[in-house]
Amino acid sequence: MRAIIVGAGIAGLVTARQLGLAGWEVDVVEQSPGPRDAGYMMDFFGPGVAASERIGLYPRLADVAYPVEAAEYVDSAGKATAMLDYERFSRAAGGRVLTLLRPDMELAARDALDDVPAGRVRLHYARRPTGYRDGGGVVSVSLPGTEPSTLEADVLIGADGIHSAVRGSLFGPEADYLRPLGMRAAAYIADEPALAARLGRRFVLTDSLDRTVGLYGLRTGQVATFMVYREQAIAADGIDVDAPTRLRRNFAGLGPEVDRMLELCPPDPYDDVVAQVVMPGWHRERTILVGDACSAVSLVAGQGGSLAIAGGALLGDLLGPVRARDDIPAVLAGFEREWRPVIEAAQASGRRAVWMFLPETVRQQRVRRWVLRAATLPVVNAIVARQIVKSIAS
Ligand SMILES: Cc1cc2nc3c(=O)[nH]c(=O)nc-3n(C[C@H](O)[C@H](O)[C@H](O)COP(=O)(O)OP(=O)(O)OC[C@H]3O[C@@H](n4cnc5c(N)ncnc54)[C@H](O)[C@@H]3O)c2cc1C
Repeated sequence: MRAIIVGAGIAGLVTARQLGLAGWEVDVVEQSPGPRDAGYMMDFFGPGVAASERIGLYPRLADVAYPVEAAEYVDSAGKATAMLDYERFSRAAGGRVLTLLRPDMELAARDALDDVPAGRVRLHYARRPTGYRDGGGVVSVSLPGTEPSTLEADVLIGADGIHSAVRGSLFGPEADYLRPLGMRAAAYIADEPALAARLGRRFVLTDSLDRTVGLYGLRTGQVATFMVYREQAIAADGIDVDAPTRLRRNFAGLGPEVDRMLELCPPDPYDDVVAQVVMPGWHRERTILVGDACSAVSLVAGQGGSLAIAGGALLGDLLGPVRARDDIPAVLAGFEREWRPVIEAAQASGRRAVWMFLPETVRQQRVRRWVLRAATLPVVNAIVARQIVKSIAS
């Protein structure tokens, strides 16, 4: 059996590995020239933990995880206003929380392809398909290049993220499915050893309205930064300026450490809308979407990487045993039936967490501080931590 997967992100790579292990021939087509090093720290908890243990990926993820002692909110003078103890956070999430960089998670998934017999999973970087077809019992993808070619397979898997081209081509326009949450997010990593050392094992987040910056020091002496801001509060020149200029205009003044990181912003940081993807159906004939392409929960839900792993593993494991083309549509329907309730629950809790992630009013900001402080009291700790577990940086 043959599969074409579009997108070598976390969901695409995990699906490819599971299919390869089950004996499928898999072509993975990725538009970027190689693995990308953009992205921020992500908390890894929820369904991805059990799934990665089941498929043997968990030890690779644990190897590249970072120790985090606390998430600390600070004012513009650097004074702590609230804190979340990560050990408590971890206990509330069942004791299995890893914190790792998005690119490290992607790399772990790619390295795990080594478990598949050589040649069965082929990665094609720097190829952005120009067309997708699903009909007559076969799927095909047109590839550009000096020698344009067409790949054919039994199933097409769109794992190409929130702006999925597979979805756009075979399911309908992005505007029908993308549900923006009114925010944009940016992330990048820059060399700043002195700041990395000062941050130690803490996430430092600005306690600010309508915008927030998170900083974490990496073992390489670099600092990982994320910046999230409400679209309605974007400075007057809107989004029609290049990302570094826009970030400097919107995040200056939140403290000297943020100002320093703004100076170090690269020309092409990760920079995108914060959105969920909500679709009435994830599959048609022999095409299925997986990961953010059909079911993005957004960074406010804090489980994007975990759900990408769990969803990819489930899809791979359900399709893996299939040996007859005609069985494919029913298996795709079965995947959606099993996985959709998990996604819908995560999306709903993400939407509820928006105010906690990015307060809009002074009252919301105060309530967040109170909630975080209350979380240090043993009695309320477990209940409160369970709530905030879903709303802290991903
Ligand atoms: C560079 C980058 C940085 C990110 N940083 C963060 C972050 O800081 N915090 C956070 O919460 N989430 C971040 N995300 C999103 C996060 O990775 C996903 O929510 C989660 O991992 C789900 O993964 P996914 O595999 O479904 O989608 P994605 O991780 O988005 O992967 C999709 C892949 O498909 C590729 N692709 C897209 N279109 C095409 C096409 N037409 N043809 C071929 N390939 C295509 C993309 O290049 C990408 O490699 C980032 C995503 C990317 C791509």
